[in-house]
Amino acid sequence: MDIKRSHLLRQLPGVNELLQYFESQASSRHLPRKLMTQVIRDSLETQRRHLLAGALDRLPSDLNRSELLQYIHHRLVQAQRSRLCRVINATGVIIHTNLGRSPLPAVALERLLEVGGYYSNLEYDLDAGCRGSRHDHLEGLLRDLTGAAAALIVNNNAAAVMLALNTLAQGREVIVSRGQLVEIGGSFRMPEIMAMSGARLREVGTTNKTYLRDFEAALSPETAVLLKVHMSNYRILGFTHEVPLADLVALGHQHGLPVVEDLGSGCLIDLSRYGLEKEPTVTEALKTGVDLVLFSGDKLLGGPQAGLVLGDQAIVERLKRNPLTRALRPDKLTLAALEATLRLYLDEPRAVAAIPTLWILTRPLAEVKRQAQNLVRRLRSRLINGLQVGLCPSLARVGGGALPQLALPSQALSVAHPEWAAHHLEARLRQANPPVIARLEQDRLLLDVRTLLPEDQHLLVSVLENLLPAAKNHLS
Ligand SMILES: *Cc1c(COP(=O)(O)O)cnc(C)c1O
Repeated sequence: MDIKRSHLLRQLPGVNELLQYFESQASSRHLPRKLMTQVIRDSLETQRRHLLAGALDRLPSDLNRSELLQYIHHRLVQAQRSRLCRVINATGVIIHTNLGRSPLPAVALERLLEVGGYYSNLEYDLDAGCRGSRHDHLEGLLRDLTGAAAALIVNNNAAAVMLALNTLAQGREVIVSRGQLVEIGGSFRMPEIMAMSGARLREVGTTNKTYLRDFEAALSPETAVLLKVHMSNYRILGFTHEVPLADLVALGHQHGLPVVEDLGSGCLIDLSRYGLEKEPTVTEALKTGVDLVLFSGDKLLGGPQAGLVLGDQAIVERLKRNPLTRALRPDKLTLAALEATLRLYLDEPRAVAAIPTLWILTRPLAEVKRQAQNLVRRLRSRLINGLQVGLCPSLARVGGGALPQLALPSQALSVAHPEWAAHHLEARLRQANPPVIARLEQDRLLLDVRTLLPEDQHLLVSVLENLLPAAKNHLS
């Protein structure tokens, strides 16, 4: 090794020396020793690799000790933070699967604290004084809200699909239109879930057109279920034909076969009343006489991750008795948050105001614009770090496998800096506390205002205020 490199490596302080230093600092004194030691070891290792691999003419002649201390300090601050954390969604994608889909309504959070922080009657029947079922708590409410005869909650909608097919069609055939063999979010693929459930896929029709007669021709003694899958995250345009759910139900029942619809997002209110594209509601689907509808709790419903199974009493009972249900059951926190969210739907205006996903979706553009202007005004009077903010029209997306073609009019802040490229600012925002997830569009950095929650605003202002001076302090 060359002299310069070994000289620098020898200047690296030891773990114990650094440990002593950081244990004497007010900002890190309270950290668990184990965590501190680990961070210091990792940091030294990173430095060592950097010195070994760096181009010789780019290396300093002496180690910059204060820079090293600052770097370790920065990593210690990061190590104290939870890995799973709140972020500000400025992407304009409302139900963003990567960002946790639906933020919960405040009443649901209150229920989480109460049911989670104390004992509860999760599986205890308070009237009879004996063992009860966790599956009983929400059934009445779901019946009232949707008209369903029976209901079951599982871990998520993928679990609901798997459970329904396993219960009704293991070892037999499920007929589904070729145009509906969806993949959602990269990991939910209908053919794969079906294979895991033990059912055999029988595709009918073509990609763009499937008729009732295609289903009819595929019927055989092997047939167990007729399945319809909602085209959640795509549309087939041009010359198309889909079998209406009511026709499929009539055919199924004529042959004594259950009909199942995977609704995907599953909406309880008619969105067309708010000027949005019509999504079939859960109640409308059930009115066709379909035996089961399946949908997610955290998409348009706006609650916690869950899979809701609604429909025929006898069939739901069969699902409940399947041992697989034990493996897919929801925990008490899910049930608590879901119950609180569903209760809001007893009063639709209240639901739209209190469920963040619905509030964001139905906010008038004028209100989004007002908020954007306010933000720009506040930022322009406070930013001294060279950031330039402007306003521009934007289009928000619903995401989460709902209304794939709908572009919601929105407003965005455009953020720029004479010396920092947009992608660089975008990366800095991701590293902020809390992280801000922005959108890059043709080399412009945009912060969509529609998906900002009311409490995000002042945090966003402070993140932007502190973005660059802090950024220049870090090593690496
Ligand atoms: C989203 C979706 C699923 C998967 O639901 P999860 O709750 O994410 O498991 C299944 N089917 C359809 C049609 C969907 O849109």
